[in-house]
Amino acid sequence: MFFRPRTKQSNEKHAGVADLQDIGQRSLIRMIFVSTGLILWVFCALQFAAGEYLLASGELLSGSVLVWGGWRIVRVRNVLPWVYLYLLPMFSFLLYIIVVPNASKTAFVWVYSVPVLSYLLLGRERGSLLTLPFVLGACLLYLYTYPIQLDAESLIDLGNALFCGVMIIVFVHFYETRRAYAHQQLQHMARTDALTGVASRGSFQQSLEQSIHEVQRSYDKLVLVILDVDHFKAVNDQYGHDAGDQALRHICNSLSQRLRNTDTLGRLGGEEFGLLLRNTELAAAEPLVEMLREQIASKPLIYGEARIALTVTFGLAEWPRDGQTADELYRCADQRLYRGKALGRNRLISCSASTVPSGEA
Ligand code: GH3
Ligand code: MG
Ligand code: MG
Repeated sequence: MFFRPRTKQSNEKHAGVADLQDIGQRSLIRMIFVSTGLILWVFCALQFAAGEYLLASGELLSGSVLVWGGWRIVRVRNVLPWVYLYLLPMFSFLLYIIVVPNASKTAFVWVYSVPVLSYLLLGRERGSLLTLPFVLGACLLYLYTYPIQLDAESLIDLGNALFCGVMIIVFVHFYETRRAYAHQQLQHMARTDALTGVASRGSFQQSLEQSIHEVQRSYDKLVLVILDVDHFKAVNDQYGHDAGDQALRHICNSLSQRLRNTDTLGRLGGEEFGLLLRNTELAAAEPLVEMLREQIASKPLIYGEARIALTVTFGLAEWPRDGQTADELYRCADQRLYRGKALGRNRLISCSASTVPSGEA
């Protein structure tokens, strides 16, 4: 039997790199919220001991809100507003402690956390946009509070503060640029099948589920096609594994040439592929798939001196007629593919009749 049930666990196994990054991002935000909240609680105790009850109450309240936010953040839909709600007041406070009367002369060192937190929580573009105004503001406020003096000692102090800040910004900017690039590469690798360049199984599964979700609202049709190369083991046995690999690439090239931008081709495993035809009814999918079948059958793979004939069997299932969920569609298309194999291969099967349908090759 060709059908292998796709369970919820197997779908979870396909959680993409993007999902993992989202989980990592939320854990990071949680850690930052909770640690800031705890620091505020410590300062609250100190202010309380110093008799600054109003300040202590403010710190107690903001610390509690942050700890609560850290607990909530894993469940919220969009983390971005939460991040801005944290960063904007926090950065404003960092500017304020530079100019507050009797401020410590070293209070400005907290401004160095601005680029680090911005890039970490918002990424390169948003992070740099938030960093620039706050860092510039901090510089101006610092120079306003402590006007430049032209003696060597003051200039060295200023140089230390300035170059350390510039170095942190440059470092964080390059680090985040490289990290984002590496993440993009990783995402591409996870979404693409290394041998054929078509969508990976996990990515195809996600596309199918997403498309079903969309057609449930738009009431469009979609067709899932599962295809399996006929007697592929014989190709490997007769010409070798490398010829088999080339045959898989050859078939994917043939298929990709004829597909629309909205169609998705994915490798489900071995020599089995999935084809997702969006906004398509079965009646329109049949001639298209028939054309694909003919094209593959009529274009053998040229492998050295050999001409390797290749054929493919297709099973088609239409949403919602043949299945409401991805699992039901897979099951239906898989059963039809299996029937196509039993009936002699190199054909498409698009209905569940027990006799050979007239539309088949
Ligand atoms: P059928 O017409 O019933 O589908 O027969 P088949 O020979 O195609 O099916 P079978 O499942 O017996 O064999 C599939 C073969 O595909 C066996 C396996 O070695 C080969 N295969 C799976 N993945 C790859 C791959 O990435 N490269 C190569 N070269 N061969 C592969
Ligand atoms: Mg096969
Ligand atoms: Mg197979």
